[in-house]
Amino acid sequence: MRTCAAEKCGKSLEGRAAKTRYCDDTCRQRASRARVEKRGPHMVEPAWSFGAALREARTAAGLTTAELGAMVRKRRVACDHSVISRWETGARRSITVAQLEALASALGLSAADRKRWAKAAAEGGA
Ligand SMILES: [Zn+2]
Repeated sequence: MRTCAAEKCGKSLEGRAAKTRYCDDTCRQRASRARVEKRGPHMVEPAWSFGAALREARTAAGLTTAELGAMVRKRRVACDHSVISRWETGARRSITVAQLEALASALGLSAADRKRWAKAAAEGGA
């Protein structure tokens, strides 16, 4: 039986395509981070904690990037699902206050979480 290639996961990959090596995106990213770390710390791009927090809140709410994007756009704030993906991976590190607020409202964040988000978004921004 083939299992997920991520360390300490071991979930079955039964019924998945032959090239599938990981059970989900989380495991794939974990494995890719582990590979980068093995290459040496100088190669690691600093993680953007806001991106991780955004992904965590979105998946906890059970929303896809497209669904969250639509919720943000209902608040008349520009937000495409591909932008959300890039924020989450840290590929894009610029976000407007309006976007941050709309995301936080759509995800029902507490005031304390909003403060953490604003701080995290400001760090490592480029
Ligand atoms: Zn896995």
